Amino acid sequence: MTEAVPRVVTNGRVGPVDASLVPRFAGPATFARLPRFDEVSDVDVAVVGVPFDAGVSYRPGARFGPAHVRESSRLLRPYNPALPVSPFARLQVADAGDIAVNPFSIDEAVAQVERGADALLERSGRVLAIGGDHTIALPLLRAVARRHGPVAVVHFDAHLDTWDTYFGAAYTHGTPFRRASEEGLIDRSGCLHVGVRGPLYASTDLTDDAALGFAVVSAVEMEDLGSKGAAERIAARVQNRPVYVSVDIDVLDPAFAPGTGTPESGGLLSRELLAILRSFSSLNLVGADLVEVAPAYDHAEITGIAASHVAYELLSAMALTSA
Ligand code: MN
Ligand code: MN
Repeated sequence: MTEAVPRVVTNGRVGPVDASLVPRFAGPATFARLPRFDEVSDVDVAVVGVPFDAGVSYRPGARFGPAHVRESSRLLRPYNPALPVSPFARLQVADAGDIAVNPFSIDEAVAQVERGADALLERSGRVLAIGGDHTIALPLLRAVARRHGPVAVVHFDAHLDTWDTYFGAAYTHGTPFRRASEEGLIDRSGCLHVGVRGPLYASTDLTDDAALGFAVVSAVEMEDLGSKGAAERIAARVQNRPVYVSVDIDVLDPAFAPGTGTPESGGLLSRELLAILRSFSSLNLVGADLVEVAPAYDHAEITGIAASHVAYELLSAMALTSA
């Protein structure tokens, strides 16, 4: 494209490339075809990729998650009728590209993510990070807690991610929330996991987890609670605290998200997850991540499309949070 790209502009906010003038499958893939961070001013939410997967314990490949989610987000449209809200008319959202992370040093990568998130928060109100494996939640929480104090974490995942170490390593995709709790980044009276399921190492995994500050809405309980009941449990737990939402795409059943590193059977429907996220428009959302999309195991963009809609609902909820 050699001429200026036509965009949907509403309330002075620069939105997606106008799909009535440029086909959705044309042009570079920013998230939802939104402008780049350097193309706009006064950014409310920066969407940033974190292509890091050196912290995984099973299938690698989430380093390609950010590019895959961007490609799979080309079909997102500006108006969300389910809330209802036009997120890109209420917030200036921009794609900040990827944080360059060292693929050979977890320690250095963790520091780079923290610095990258800090730099973005200097210039934007909130960050939505797209991983990458779940290791990145720890440095993201450090950056968010520096501004907001200890936050209530709502963590969607098949797994607890509060284990201690793997092979002696403290920073992995199975340990970020134990580290965050130890570092005082989270409010231990306001956190919970949603969608946890599958076999554990021992029953003490659950008692350790509770001591670290997490309540649980398990995938098994979803059968009776439904998305409405789950949303009520979450709201009652986090109340008016600043809330950080961390979505591991493996919270969805492998039928809805096969492209991930540690799949577990019996997960949430994408319809359930999206409905719960919509309910967050009444919470005080201060940041979010979406992790563990590993496109090599995906088919027909199933996982990528689910992930792009998760990000879209998070942005929609943020748009109403700031209202
Ligand atoms: Mn997981
Ligand atoms: Mn996880």
